[in-house]
Amino acid sequence: MSFLLDRPIEYVKGVGPLRGDLLKKELEIFRVEELLAHYPFRYVDRTKIIAIKEIKDDSQDVQIKGKLTYYEEVGHKFNKRLVARLKDHTGQIELVWFRGIKWFIKSLVTGAEYIVYGKPSCFNGKLNIVHPDDMELISQQTLEKVIGFKPIYPSTEKLKAKGLDSRGIMKLVRTVLDELQEKDLPENLPVGIIRKYRFISRYEATKFIHQPADEIEQEKATRRLKFEELFISQIRILQLKVGRKEHASGFIFTSISNVFDKFYHEHLKFQLTNAQKKVLKEIRQDVLAGKQMNRLLQGDVGSGKTIVALMTMLMAIDNGFQACLMAPTEILARQHFRNITNLLGDLNVKVEMLTSGVKGKLKKQILSDLSTGIINILTGTHALIEDEVQFNNLGLAVIDEQHRFGVAQRAAMWEKSEHPPHVLVMTATPIPRTLAMTIYGDLDVSVIDEMPPGRKPIVTKCLFESKRLSMFGFLKEQIAAGRQIYIVYPLIEESEKLDLKNLMEGYESILREFSPPKYRVSVLHGQMKAEAKEFEMQRFIKGETHIMVSTTVIEVGVDVPNASVMVIENAERFGLSQLHQLRGRVGRGAEQSCCILMSDYKQSQEARTRLETMVKTNDGFQIAEVDLHLRGPGDIEGTRQSGIMNFKVADIVRDSVILKEARHAAQDLLNDDPHLEKQENDPLRRFLTANKSMARKQWSRIS
Ligand code: ADP
Ligand code: MG
Repeated sequence: MSFLLDRPIEYVKGVGPLRGDLLKKELEIFRVEELLAHYPFRYVDRTKIIAIKEIKDDSQDVQIKGKLTYYEEVGHKFNKRLVARLKDHTGQIELVWFRGIKWFIKSLVTGAEYIVYGKPSCFNGKLNIVHPDDMELISQQTLEKVIGFKPIYPSTEKLKAKGLDSRGIMKLVRTVLDELQEKDLPENLPVGIIRKYRFISRYEATKFIHQPADEIEQEKATRRLKFEELFISQIRILQLKVGRKEHASGFIFTSISNVFDKFYHEHLKFQLTNAQKKVLKEIRQDVLAGKQMNRLLQGDVGSGKTIVALMTMLMAIDNGFQACLMAPTEILARQHFRNITNLLGDLNVKVEMLTSGVKGKLKKQILSDLSTGIINILTGTHALIEDEVQFNNLGLAVIDEQHRFGVAQRAAMWEKSEHPPHVLVMTATPIPRTLAMTIYGDLDVSVIDEMPPGRKPIVTKCLFESKRLSMFGFLKEQIAAGRQIYIVYPLIEESEKLDLKNLMEGYESILREFSPPKYRVSVLHGQMKAEAKEFEMQRFIKGETHIMVSTTVIEVGVDVPNASVMVIENAERFGLSQLHQLRGRVGRGAEQSCCILMSDYKQSQEARTRLETMVKTNDGFQIAEVDLHLRGPGDIEGTRQSGIMNFKVADIVRDSVILKEARHAAQDLLNDDPHLEKQENDPLRRFLTANKSMARKQWSRIS
């Protein structure tokens, strides 16, 4: 233990109780340790001073030194500005301020020497610096203070008001670094890894990241700390896996005969794809191994995950267990129920559904049949994890579209059985590899990387409003050819009322264009009662209506093979994964399907990239990568709940190479020494033990 690192922040010289409280509240810096982990977010190279003559109009930030020869307030009212001139032996340049003029007039001294740092620009053919980032009267002290490779720290308005801007924080860090010794920060990586990657020590890295002499030192420090952060997180994730594999013994599904065989040979109307077979084999191995299965099934929209889930459930049933399938929405739960019932036909398997809409006598009956074991498969929403839901012997829990569920809800599934059931988690949206490694790193992963045969790739077009009439014409042709159509309106999160208005206006305008009795239009939105939703859904499924006007409630999982056109209104407002999900509602039959993205002329660069990506590719994995790059990891659905993205230096998008290295290194190390018993791994084990509470706080339980 290090006394320095544990020192409360208010006892650091220059802090005191007032600033101490602020640091705690604003930046969660409680002790010196957290101050040292408050890393700069960028650096400015202020090692060089250049001659004014050398400034070009495309120069980035420059640092110059010279005499202030003149300053004057010019213009008036809205055009007021302060213009000053700085001169060195090679030339002169104007400095300009539009704000804070009074303050500058009071403090500037003509004839004095200044150091100025900022970005030059060109105005009327003349170079100037508008609002320099920094300007300091020259003295020996200031030279020492400003010259060098300088860290810039994140701060907040409240901290700045108390003198803790970037520079103030830098001062505190320096005070601490002056005292810091090697023993305060013992090495936490095994020597082998340090040698292999030629890392500097943890102590050096901490010093260099705050106080690098140059870019090279800064990069060395950053590389080491990024690796360390990712490596430690990978070790923790993979240790969970080791632990689970060793301790959580699983039900063994030895017999596969009865319903599974019957279903496979007599009820399945199509050939499984090779990818589906491969995944079923992987699952089969899991459920025979005597260990609890915890598997993530990834596959693009429409790749046929449901059938894999169903056949896995049949394995459980063949061995006398119950299975459940939890979906994030009522619509999806109902659809699963319907699908499964249809697929199973006359097989002797009892399937029931439980959602919050199921009440009274029916609910009582279901709960009772569940606890006595009469029900074999229970589908439903998160109503499944309510306490009153008691299984007789739950052997398998399947969680569909799992990114919609919080960590706690998933964990609750484990507790539905005295002995944890096998868990199969399915994602609708493919997850980029780097993200999967970080969030689901302790799950085994299966991928369905092949679409059922006969699917024609969906054609995607992006249209502006001016093409609406010809778009309607196209829809009419499609309806005449017997196809069905979805028209989806965006969900504006701030206001459900506005949504509904938007949708209802859309619905009315569609009705004007597609009026009965020739055309029939369904409408579906989140505020409808469950029965009404089901009624509308059924009309569409049965082909009684031509068009389904809807909000994104249909986004996930709805399956109507005859629907071949998806129109998305205000497509620029949707996120990429949502667009991809919506598009996945069509292209499920043998017909050529298409997706029409209606968009506004005005749109951001990011929106344009999203729409272009949709037009360019149907590959969900590729789309997921673009999405991750556009939004950054923090915003990808499901990552925030997992709390696992709280990296301080690393960024799994930009640092994907380091992440892969860290993953490999962690895997190799645990293969060789699963419990970190070898002496060479002492530093790592000690570090992990010492920081256990931190890990618990950050992660709770993954999946
Ligand atoms: P998702 O992976 O998006 O959940 P689904 O499981 O809903 O996809 O499957 C999409 C559609 O493809 C369903 O209509 C399903 O019956 C069909 N399907 C699944 N597997 C095959 C296959 N091997 N051959 C033909 N059709 C299949
Ligand atoms: Mg699905």
